[in-house]
Amino acid sequence: MYLCSHSIYEKSDQNSYYDDISINEIKKINKNFHLTFDDGYLSIYKYKEILCNMKNKIILFICPGFIEGDTNIWWFELLDFVNKTNSDLEFSFRGKNFYFSLKTSKEREFCYKKLSIIFKKINQRSQQELLNIIIKKRKKIDYRKNFLTWEMIYELSQCPNISIGSHTYSHPNLKNEDKKKVSFELKKSKEVIEKNIKKECSYLAFPYGGNNSFDNKIIDKALEIGYKNIFTTEPKINFIKKEKQIIINRLTSSPNISNDRLWLYSRYLIKGFKNILINNV
Ligand SMILES: [Zn+2]
Repeated sequence: MYLCSHSIYEKSDQNSYYDDISINEIKKINKNFHLTFDDGYLSIYKYKEILCNMKNKIILFICPGFIEGDTNIWWFELLDFVNKTNSDLEFSFRGKNFYFSLKTSKEREFCYKKLSIIFKKINQRSQQELLNIIIKKRKKIDYRKNFLTWEMIYELSQCPNISIGSHTYSHPNLKNEDKKKVSFELKKSKEVIEKNIKKECSYLAFPYGGNNSFDNKIIDKALEIGYKNIFTTEPKINFIKKEKQIIINRLTSSPNISNDRLWLYSRYLIKGFKNILINNV
């Protein structure tokens, strides 16, 4: 069973939406649980010793664009904006009018969640267009401090239980992009990761990960480019090809709107009930 998480927090320091598993939970996790961390957040490095000495298999799915700092990250920009703005938000996008009051933290959270749903459904070009509408006088912000560096990634890749996988180059929803962009995202990330870790990168995790973020054509392209295993967060899909399980589905450790029952199930597993886990790959 594979678990998909993002960032690790100490019991006392959970402070952002992407911190979704605590170090205490990780320490107690059943050894049959394989851990995966998407996006390459910095907190992984803080717990390097613990992770490196675990019996569990661990995969870090990296977006080179986040590490290099040449990719816009809509959720950071949106979250920064929603948290810092005092006035209400009113705008039109593609013929639809939007209005959000941003006075209380509940209202800010509501606004972020509602807009996130839209951002996940549109391509990267439209995401930039929407950010330009929402954020007046938008400036380029460097978010590299939130992510692992190549040196850290190389060091982590030296641990026998840790592998580095690709999470595309710049984290688009591949299903919203054209063929050329899909090919670039899959190829370029593999090349850049392999150059930096000096090893083959054969794992791929689709950004967002649900069945509305990939299709069979994208899977075939990824296999053609040389990926051996492809990870989703879609528990219902199970493609079996050539007698080998190529598509691997993961449970998520953070709340997921599309599968909240499964999220509860994964939290139940993380809490340490023995003999319930199946090592499925
Ligand atoms: Zn991601």
